[in-house]
Amino acid sequence: MKAVRVNEFGGPEVLSVEDIEAPTAAEGEALIKIEAAGINFIDTYQRSGLYQIPLPSTLGLEAAGTVEAVGPGVNRFKVGDRVAYTNVAGAYADYAAVPEDKLVSLPEGVSFAQGAAAMLQGCTAHYLCQSTYKVKAGDRCLVHAAAGGVGLLLIQMIKMLGGTVIGTCSTEAKAELARQAGADEVILYSEQDFEAEVKRITAGEGVNVAYDSVGKATFEKSIDCLSRFGYMVLYGNASGPVTEFNPATLGPKGSLFLTRPTLFDYLASREDLDWRSGDLFNWIAEGKLNLRLEHFFPLAEARAAHEALEGRKTTGKVILTP
Ligand code: NDP
Repeated sequence: MKAVRVNEFGGPEVLSVEDIEAPTAAEGEALIKIEAAGINFIDTYQRSGLYQIPLPSTLGLEAAGTVEAVGPGVNRFKVGDRVAYTNVAGAYADYAAVPEDKLVSLPEGVSFAQGAAAMLQGCTAHYLCQSTYKVKAGDRCLVHAAAGGVGLLLIQMIKMLGGTVIGTCSTEAKAELARQAGADEVILYSEQDFEAEVKRITAGEGVNVAYDSVGKATFEKSIDCLSRFGYMVLYGNASGPVTEFNPATLGPKGSLFLTRPTLFDYLASREDLDWRSGDLFNWIAEGKLNLRLEHFFPLAEARAAHEALEGRKTTGKVILTP
């Protein structure tokens, strides 16, 4: 089968399309014929070595497809079932062997591309506003990279909870997408001082929560956007990792909270996986959650897909099709 492999850490050029032996379903696993794999920013960290993975590896952490075979002990799924999953390595490929406890059924009315688009970024947006900081009606929320994959979903989910969204992004075209998703205000952080703008928009009050996936370039100012007892949720490093921080500064700035969450913890139990993916698929089927699916790349063009994502050329989801 074809797979996109990383043999050494580096830029998009290290992605190599190779013929490797297809996996087989071991005990408790199902063999999935992948129809759509999701590309996520975390894939670029794993490719560059910012997040270390064993080498060589097949990249990719989410996909949707059809069950082709099941190993011993699998009873929840059968051959022919339409399924989706995340948090299992090796999705940039024609086939993947996936533990049954990571798989969810794709309901009628949810396509493979939608399934692949929903799992990692959708479950992330879900845990951020439902669990890490549970948004309440009237909360003011700052969402960075608002037109990105997680960003557009997070805006819509915060609006469902009755929150107000101040989004940030780098271009006017992206700002329009964030507004269409429901953002109440959008700041072009490439041109404006977003901290000053947040203070102006909130009449000096600040926001209850800052969802920051940009990291190094925005971290300090995001903290300064918070109101008393505000939550700083640092969940990504698109501009580079935050490496230095003095927790004592959280006190005088309003007894603030700081957390650095990861999806893996918030999807660790079957209950959480079923809850989050179930909400997502229901909202998609009911038309309450709009997935922006515009960027499709064939497997062989994974390098171009990474270049587009890291070059800030994409909005919403990027899908790889075997
Ligand atoms: P996005 O589609 O949001 O793409 C990243 C966006 O970040 C870009 O489009 C760009 O938007 C913005 N950005 C800001 N600075 C830079 C920079 N220097 N280089 C590149 N992009 C930059 O990606 P995803 O939706 O896949 O992921 C969003 C973030 O969420 C990532 O940081 C990812 O690591 C994180 N994440 C964290 C998870 C967790 O559990 N902790 C799980 C899933 C994602 P603009 O041009 O508007 O600035």
